[in-house]
Amino acid sequence: MDKSFKYIANKDKKSVLKVDLDNITANDLYNFLSLPENEIESLINLAAKVKEDNVGNTVYYRGLIEYSNICSKNCLYCGIRACNANVVRYELSEEEVVNAARFAAEHSYANLVIQSGERSDSEFIHKIARLLSKIHAETDHKLRITLSLGEHTYDTYKLWKDCGADRYLLRIETSNEDLYKKLHPNDGKHSYSKRVKAIETLRKLEYQVGSGVMIGLPFQTIEHMVNDLLFLKNYDIDMVGMGPYIEHQDTPLYKYKDLLLSKNERFLLGVKMVASLRILMKDINIAATTAMQALNPNGREIAIMAGANVIMPNITPLKYRKEYLLYEDKPCTDEDSEQCLKCLEKRITSTGNQIGYDSWGDSKHFTRRG
Ligand code: SF4
Repeated sequence: MDKSFKYIANKDKKSVLKVDLDNITANDLYNFLSLPENEIESLINLAAKVKEDNVGNTVYYRGLIEYSNICSKNCLYCGIRACNANVVRYELSEEEVVNAARFAAEHSYANLVIQSGERSDSEFIHKIARLLSKIHAETDHKLRITLSLGEHTYDTYKLWKDCGADRYLLRIETSNEDLYKKLHPNDGKHSYSKRVKAIETLRKLEYQVGSGVMIGLPFQTIEHMVNDLLFLKNYDIDMVGMGPYIEHQDTPLYKYKDLLLSKNERFLLGVKMVASLRILMKDINIAATTAMQALNPNGREIAIMAGANVIMPNITPLKYRKEYLLYEDKPCTDEDSEQCLKCLEKRITSTGNQIGYDSWGDSKHFTRRG
């Protein structure tokens, strides 16, 4: 038998599925995502082996700064959408951002993510450019910086890259255009094709490109999720952050809450998506997202065991955390950065993984592309 063939075995080592690891098909992905709860362990085990063989058992930190919850857009699922009047809007000062960056550097995170609602005004664009230069200067260029600031023009992405942004995370949320339309207002500002083009622009500019999807959305099918995984593969994405959809009561999509799978079912689908992605895209970086932990107290540990190798400890000043609620029951909103660090350390080592302190942990998929 070709050695690339692997059996996925359950606890009793009874073969459940046979897959060719070098040629994962849509049908394989469909089967993975359809596994019943008592057979998921076998999928996790296979993904764990693929992870160990291709990227090792190291988890890398990306210190997350939620820079601002001011957003010009109105995605129908998002708690900080522009029209939600119940949100107290904030923007961190330059000093607060630089202090958080220093915390990341001093605690050997080696990586920073700056995330914000989407704004395309020139003041915002140039503020980010200045912040990038300042952070690098104040931390002796020790940090790799990821931006997650939404859709922008070629010139803006280039400006930020020239100022020292290395990676960019732009989630497609769903690869199905019809479903995308159900998640976004039809106002000319939320276009699927524009989002895909933005991903292509980031690739042209040689960013490490990240994307991701929501799992367990209303109207979403297993076929949609299979195509989501294939989308990430077709666009040759270097790093992925994806997690279960969690409803927020101040959003238009909340009216479909009765169509949703239970929270546990959405969590299990999340685990299956992470494991399937690891098996499909063996050398990319995959984040264990906080949305996984929101649905299961050990959600991030389980995601790490199922193939994730990146975690994003929140280092936003505590007083702002409760105002960056993209979804309800978001964890880690009342622990400061030091507490968060200790808690995560324990969680990660409990999975048998080590923490990649002082390491950029670039996506191997990206570095191999050359
Ligand atoms: S998902 Fe992003 S762009 Fe959409 S409303 Fe929320 S913060 Fe704004």
